[in-house]
Amino acid sequence: MMDFDASIVRIYPHWLTPFSCLDIMTRTLIFCLLAGITCKRMDQLPVPFRTNLISRQADLAALRAYPAENLAEIIVEVGFHCDCCSRCCTRDFNGHVLLLDTDVRRIQSFAPESLEPVPVLDFCDQHGMYYASGYTLRSQGDSKGSCYFLSERRCRIYENRPSICRLYPYMLHREPDDQGTVDWRQISGLNQHGGYNVEISEDEAHSLALEIKAFEEDVLSREISYLACTGRYFLDNGLRNVRKRFDDGLRSAREGVAIEVMVFSDGGYDRWLIRAGISIQIH
Ligand code: SF4
Ligand code: SF4
Repeated sequence: MMDFDASIVRIYPHWLTPFSCLDIMTRTLIFCLLAGITCKRMDQLPVPFRTNLISRQADLAALRAYPAENLAEIIVEVGFHCDCCSRCCTRDFNGHVLLLDTDVRRIQSFAPESLEPVPVLDFCDQHGMYYASGYTLRSQGDSKGSCYFLSERRCRIYENRPSICRLYPYMLHREPDDQGTVDWRQISGLNQHGGYNVEISEDEAHSLALEIKAFEEDVLSREISYLACTGRYFLDNGLRNVRKRFDDGLRSAREGVAIEVMVFSDGGYDRWLIRAGISIQIH
């Protein structure tokens, strides 16, 4: 296991604590200014951070320009109705649950054992340290990958469920289709689950559209914070993202060797150890 300086863990949150009452957009802007991510500094960031940041910022600008009325019209037109089949609460159907920092803080207060790093790691430095964008909910380890909180097709934390679970299947993502053409996607798994053509009032659709846009802005702002923070950290500490180290480490991990992961959360990092699919927080 690599030698690691624990002082780098959670390096930024104390900067952000006084701003915790602000909305995520304002916090992201303040954070980037405090972290010195000016345009000039952004030019100096290592390539994967810089290119990903540019792409996320373009996504954010496009999202902000997307008219909420268009989304509301689609919501009314589709008339989606959930039939409570609970398939969306399995990794089989939906991958892992994306959590915002507010979701993590809330869930940490009553069920910290339900959280684990997201399964997709993004970067690995030359010392073998991995970096992950945040947390997700553990699965029960059954064949479908049922969410930790799913019980008899019901959510055990319904009142406290994550933001994405409140909005699903609605979304507002720019995604490439089979031909590579990038377009907006507003409903996840359209025609693969639930019912359609129920009546949804224009008012209801409009307030839902605003909520979806706000959520997607929070998701992108958080991604931008992660990339800016991690890029700045690599820059200041002479780190490089090494693809070979990344692949070799994951191969060893599959054979039972532990890897260390810095998990981005609330503007700082938590340190985790992952061995043979089991994750343990160490700081
Ligand atoms: S938290 Fe609840 S609603 Fe969300 S995926 Fe888990 S069981 Fe489903
Ligand atoms: S949102 Fe869709 S997949 Fe999830 S419970 Fe409802 S119908 Fe089933």
